[in-house]
Amino acid sequence: MEASGSDGRQSITFPLLRGQKALVTGANSGIGKATAIGLGQVGADVVVNYVAGKDAAEEVVREIEDLGVHAYAHEADVSKEDQVVDMVARMVEEFGTIDVMVANAGLQRDAPISDMTLDQWHKVLDVNLSGQFLCAREAAKEFLRRGVVPEVSRSAGKIICMSSVHQIIPWSGHVNYAASKGGVEMLMATLAQELGPHRIRVNAVAPGAIRTPINRSAWDTPEAEAALLRLIPYQRVGDPVDIANAVAVLASDLLDYVVGTTVYVDGGMTLFPGFATGG
Ligand code: NAD
Repeated sequence: MEASGSDGRQSITFPLLRGQKALVTGANSGIGKATAIGLGQVGADVVVNYVAGKDAAEEVVREIEDLGVHAYAHEADVSKEDQVVDMVARMVEEFGTIDVMVANAGLQRDAPISDMTLDQWHKVLDVNLSGQFLCAREAAKEFLRRGVVPEVSRSAGKIICMSSVHQIIPWSGHVNYAASKGGVEMLMATLAQELGPHRIRVNAVAPGAIRTPINRSAWDTPEAEAALLRLIPYQRVGDPVDIANAVAVLASDLLDYVVGTTVYVDGGMTLFPGFATGG
């Protein structure tokens, strides 16, 4: 492994996933974009899923192709069953199979409980939880069909669920989001138990506060950033590449014995920082 990155951030360049085929949902923005490029950097061919923003998706594809691997963009809403089925079927047709599914797409529709509409509740659960179920199911079918190909990987496939620290930290005003991520934890753990005997590894990555469009208001003024840093023992807001690096290593055979785990990538946000000086 070596450090690289034009922005001075560390990213992994060792070909940990050479010859593997990865699909990243919500890959034209934020964490998904960094992850799609990061998987390309470690040798994977990548499908860049997006639901809106074709130009941004094509730009990610160009960045990945510049690394010397294959990529294409695919429009699909992860909460729509037929679209997820078609997306994975096309990938099997074009790339031959799928080795890594990164179920990353997610959104927020925030409101206090008394104002939250059923539509806001359903939208977040549909995308953040049902979307991950559909993506995991379609990937699992192909992993089960193909089985282990030892020259490619020790496992028959990897599913990585993008969760959040809010799978365990309650979050007032965001009950739909926190409930969706709590659900992702049990989706992940149950699938890991069910699919483990088939040599399919299911894990999750739980980001803390990462600088992306989803949470811009939490970091884009000095006051907001100062308030956020009070929740982060490591005293920096995360970058999308912090998550991309974790996904790349977790998807690789280096971590072949890691099954059913959530990797928190949060600068210590889950360490109850409020107790650092009291309690
Ligand atoms: P983002 O808004 O930059 O990216 C979200 C992506 O999901 C976008 O590309 C968006 O178009 C896509 N998306 C939304 N609905 C979709 C749908 N129906 N079908 C397909 N794609 C869809 O935000 P991000 O921070 O990069 O978020 C990525 C993931 O990381 C989400 O699951 C989010 O919950 C999680 N996360 C983010 C943070 C953070 O601090 N940024 C923290 C914890 C967890």
